[in-house]
Amino acid sequence: MSCNQCGDCCRVIVLSRTPEQLAEVVVAGDTVGSAAFIAQHWHPVSSEEALAIFPEYAQSYLDSGHPWHFYTCDQFDPGTNRCLAHETRPPVCSDFPWYGGDPVGRYLHPAYRTCGYRAEQDALIALRRKDGEEV
Ligand code: SF4
Ligand code: SF4
Repeated sequence: MSCNQCGDCCRVIVLSRTPEQLAEVVVAGDTVGSAAFIAQHWHPVSSEEALAIFPEYAQSYLDSGHPWHFYTCDQFDPGTNRCLAHETRPPVCSDFPWYGGDPVGRYLHPAYRTCGYRAEQDALIALRRKDGEEV
């Protein structure tokens, strides 16, 4: 099981960069290939707006003490939880949540409670423990 389209990872997005810093990445040449899409489609929202949309997720970042910046994506349809840019979404979205790495040990935000990848991660952990691995 993978993405079950719960929509949680698209509801509110958090970045360490401001919109201005993102624009600088685009101008400097983006090696990952997501910055141009992000600069076009992710729009800054206030902490209050982020809290209203996804309280548990936003609050965890506010509690961290780091100056995170909240965004929403204009390609997310909250009525259906679908991505309107599925075919052209950037790597930051299409490679989520493991980004090519081993799912075991990778961070998946606890607010994504029903994410299908969590079940995949839990199953892998259980399997490796059964095989005697320390995970
Ligand atoms: S582009 Fe699609 S997958 Fe990426 S944040 Fe927007 S709605 Fe979500
Ligand atoms: S949180 Fe997981 S299941 Fe939900 S939309 Fe994102 S990838 Fe899909």
